[in-house]
Amino acid sequence: SATDNLDFDLIVVGGGPGGSTVSTLVAMQGHRVLLLEKEEFPRYQIGESLLPSTVHGICRLLGVSEELEKASFMPKRGGTFRWGKSPEPWTFSFSISEAFSGPTSVAYQVERMKFDQILLNNARDKGVDVREGSAVVDVIDDDGRVRGVVYTDPAGNRRKAHSRFVVDASGNKSRIHGQVGGKRHYSEFFKNIAIFGYFEGGKRLPAPNSGNILCAAFESGWFWYIPLTEKLTSVGVVLRRDALERVQGDRVKALQTLIQECPLIAEYLADARRVESGPYGEVRIRKDYSYCQENFWRPGFALVGDAACFIDPVFSSGVHLATYSALLAARSINTVLDGELDETRCFEEYEARYRDEYSLFHDFLVAFYDMHQDENSYFWSAKKVTNSSASQLESFVELVGGGASHESGLLKATSYGEQRAALFQEFSELIESPADEDGTDRDLFESELVESVLEQGAKIQVQATFGESADDDVPVREGGLVPSPDGMHWAEPAAAATPP
Ligand code: FAD
Repeated sequence: SATDNLDFDLIVVGGGPGGSTVSTLVAMQGHRVLLLEKEEFPRYQIGESLLPSTVHGICRLLGVSEELEKASFMPKRGGTFRWGKSPEPWTFSFSISEAFSGPTSVAYQVERMKFDQILLNNARDKGVDVREGSAVVDVIDDDGRVRGVVYTDPAGNRRKAHSRFVVDASGNKSRIHGQVGGKRHYSEFFKNIAIFGYFEGGKRLPAPNSGNILCAAFESGWFWYIPLTEKLTSVGVVLRRDALERVQGDRVKALQTLIQECPLIAEYLADARRVESGPYGEVRIRKDYSYCQENFWRPGFALVGDAACFIDPVFSSGVHLATYSALLAARSINTVLDGELDETRCFEEYEARYRDEYSLFHDFLVAFYDMHQDENSYFWSAKKVTNSSASQLESFVELVGGGASHESGLLKATSYGEQRAALFQEFSELIESPADEDGTDRDLFESELVESVLEQGAKIQVQATFGESADDDVPVREGGLVPSPDGMHWAEPAAAATPP
C-alpha cells in the first residue's frame, strides 16, 4: 500500500510529553520524523504538577514558552507538605535556589489534556509528521537492529514504516519496550497504589502559595492536592500496596472514606463537590507504576519517559524524567544522523545521564518516605544524594525542581528569564519617562523601542541557548561526552575538562 515502506530518520511511538519533545528536537534539526499516537488528542493523562526544569528549560528549547503563557496554567511556586514528624505543614519555594531564581522559579500545574495538546501541536508546527489514531504493534527488527515499526492506521489497516531510529515513548502501557532487551524491574520499595478524582470548590492555600502542590501524609499513605484552575482541584491518595483491598469495590466511596481519614484534606474539601461527568468525572486507580527497564537502548532503538522508568508521584518527577530523557535521546540521534560520533558512545551518554537523574530522585524518595524524620533531615538527604556543595535546603530545592544535573538545557533559561525581566523593567521605565511630554511621537518611540527590546531579547535568548556554562563543559564520567554549545548534539569535551 501507499504508506508501506515510508522512510524516516526517526519514528517516535507515543505523543505524550516524552514523544513530543524528542520528535520536535530532532525535526528542528531538519530531520524527517514520524510520530505515531494511538489515541485522538486531547486524551486524559495523570501527572499534572510540573517542575521548573520542564517549563523553563525543555519548553523553551521546544519554542513553546509563549504558547504556555497564553494557556494561563496555574502558577506553581513550590510545595507545601504536611509530612514527617512535624505536625505543622512546611513550605518550600523554587525561588530559594539560585538555579531557579527570578521569573523561572515558577512552574505550572497543568491539565494534561491541554498541556500535551500544546506540545503535540508544536511538534506538528516544527515539521513532525504526527499521525493520531495509529497504534504501534511491533518493531521491525533486522540483523540485530531496529529499523522501523508495524502499526495499525485509523482505518484499522496494518502498515509498516521504516527509519534509522525508533524511540518508544508510549508510556507505562508500552507494548514494545521489551524489544530493547532485558526486563522491566518493578521496585521492591515503591509498591504503591493511587486512587484519584477531581473536585470543584476546594479551599486554596493562602497567597502567594495558592498554586502550590499540597501533600498531606496520614495513617494509610498520603494525599496530593493540586489546584488546576481557580475552581478545579486534582485530588489523589497514594497507598501502600497492602492496602489494595481498601480501594476494591466502590471507588467513589473508597476515595470519600480516605479523605475523611486525613483531617487537612477533609478540611480543604469541606465545601467542595466531586466532578461527576466528563473526563474528570471518573475516579481512577493506578498501580504497578514504579519500575525501571534493565536496558534503555539497543542499536536503532531507545526508550524515553514512562516506557523506560517511573518512580513515584511524590515530587512530580514523571514529566521531568520524560522530557529530560527525550532531550538526551534527541542529542544522541541528532549526533549520529549528522555523522559526528559513534552510536554506541552517544547512546551510552544518554543512558548514563538518564540513569543518574532517575537515581537521584529514586534515592532521595526512599529517604523521603521515612515518615519519622523532620524536614531538615529530608533536606540533608537531598544534599547527600546530589553530592552538592550548596546548602541542604538549596540542594533539596534544586533536586526537586529538576535542576540537579546542572545542565544548561534545563537551567540556562534562568539567566534568559532574568535578563528578559530586566529588559522589560528598563522598557517600562522608559515608557513612563517624560519623553512623550516634549512632543516625541509616542507610538513611534514605543514601536522602535519594542523592536529593539525584542531584538535584544532574541540575542539574549540565543546567548542563553548557545552559551556555555562551566557544568556543560565537564563530562559526568570518564570518557563521557558533553552537550554541544547549542544543546542539540553531543560533543567531545575540551582536553582540559575532567570529570569531578
Ligand atoms: P505518556 O504521557 O503516558 O504518553 C504516552 C503516549 O503514548 C500516550 O499518549 C499513549 O496514548 C501513547 N501510546 C501508548 N501505546 C501506544 C502505541 N502502541 N502506539 C502509539 N501510541 C501509544 N508526573 C509529573 O510530572 N507530575 C505529577 O504530578 C505526576 N503525578 C502522577 C501521579 C500518578 C498516580 C502516576 C501514576 C504518575 C504521575 N506522574 C506525574 C507521572 C506521569 O504521569 C508520567 O511520568 C508522564 O505522563 C510520562 O510521560 P510519557 O510521555 O513518557 O508518557
